[in-house]
Amino acid sequence: MSAVLGTYNRRDVSFSKGKGCYLYSTTGDKYLDFVSGIAVNSLGHCHKHLVETIQKQAEKLWHVSNAFIIPEQEKLAQRLVDNTFADYVVFMNSGAEATEASIKIARKYFYEIGQPEKNRIITFTGAFHGRTLASLFAANNPEHIKGFGPKVDGFDQVPFADHDALKKAINKHTAAIMVETVFGEGGVKVLPKECLIGLKKLCEEKDLLLILDEVQCGIGRTGKFFAFDWAGIEPDIVPIAKGIGGGFPIGACLVNKKASIGMKAGTHGSTFGGNPLAMSVGNAVLDIILEKGFLEHVQEVGNYFEEELKKLQVKYPSVILEVRGKGLLRGIKLKEDNAKFLDHLFKNKMLGVKAAENVIRLLPPLIVTKKEIDKAIIILEKTAKEFK
Ligand SMILES: *Cc1c(COP(=O)(O)O)cnc(C)c1O
Repeated sequence: MSAVLGTYNRRDVSFSKGKGCYLYSTTGDKYLDFVSGIAVNSLGHCHKHLVETIQKQAEKLWHVSNAFIIPEQEKLAQRLVDNTFADYVVFMNSGAEATEASIKIARKYFYEIGQPEKNRIITFTGAFHGRTLASLFAANNPEHIKGFGPKVDGFDQVPFADHDALKKAINKHTAAIMVETVFGEGGVKVLPKECLIGLKKLCEEKDLLLILDEVQCGIGRTGKFFAFDWAGIEPDIVPIAKGIGGGFPIGACLVNKKASIGMKAGTHGSTFGGNPLAMSVGNAVLDIILEKGFLEHVQEVGNYFEEELKKLQVKYPSVILEVRGKGLLRGIKLKEDNAKFLDHLFKNKMLGVKAAENVIRLLPPLIVTKKEIDKAIIILEKTAKEFK
């Protein structure tokens, strides 16, 4: 019996400590962690720099309120601006809040320039933007919205990769297009470079804002700081979360100057968002991710992982139907039920997580090495054999 509200399907295991790419259960077993708290533990478990940073900050100052200037917040915002398309950053505590902030910023922009009728956002079937009411109805996943009506209005959905439907959906009320650069929960689907370039062009032609949800695929996960960097484009608004905190809850919304103009004092806020403790951890994560060679490391190991997964696919074509993803955000589409495969993987001492379209997601910490990839491949092969 648990006093915790039963909103999760949980595996019957608990962990007492973590180190790098490994988790140790309370029963003494060691697991290779290719979930990373769903792309959160970007630097693995208990990274020395993060541990030292949080200990030091905990003795200095935790929280003050956004009624005051927070130097750690100024610093993290400036570093995000210096390294990306953005001109401003607003801090939240989670991915859903970051996507909600994006929606608000887009609507307020058109209000501010005297076109308040432009307030609808086009989104895509199979997307995931979070579990708050607006982010829920933005994605409009039938399983997630069931029973939570009335529907939050303001979103028009089009099927994934349907260019004609997208063009048809744009009308005089459209303010923005919002999409995950790589669908995470939705089955690890990478938006091709040409599509991103096309989306950007379309937004320019039709005077729309482009919101790219990088909550899961951003902060180095694909081997570039943002997944859209692979396409060489610049969106207007980008929600981030997961990886930027390395395990500490941080969300943020990055925005360019143009799209930011409606967001004056009093238009948005968060009690906890951007507090000194969170910001010191965010800065420590960036210390590592922005280090020379770090993203190249992610690319190299990510490519190696892909090659090895594709070899497995060739060896076990009746088990593995497809290898998807980019960098260290990988998906394997299976023939057998993905949950059952994950059960076997767990018995073999490795952790993965489900995604839609019968995919399992593998999201190792970005500090993973080829040695641990080799270990993962051995366990995946052992598991694949059990399904052959
Ligand atoms: C996880 C996720 C969210 C929601 O983040 P929470 O921190 O769970 O609120 C939003 N968008 C994407 C793409 C995500 O993967």
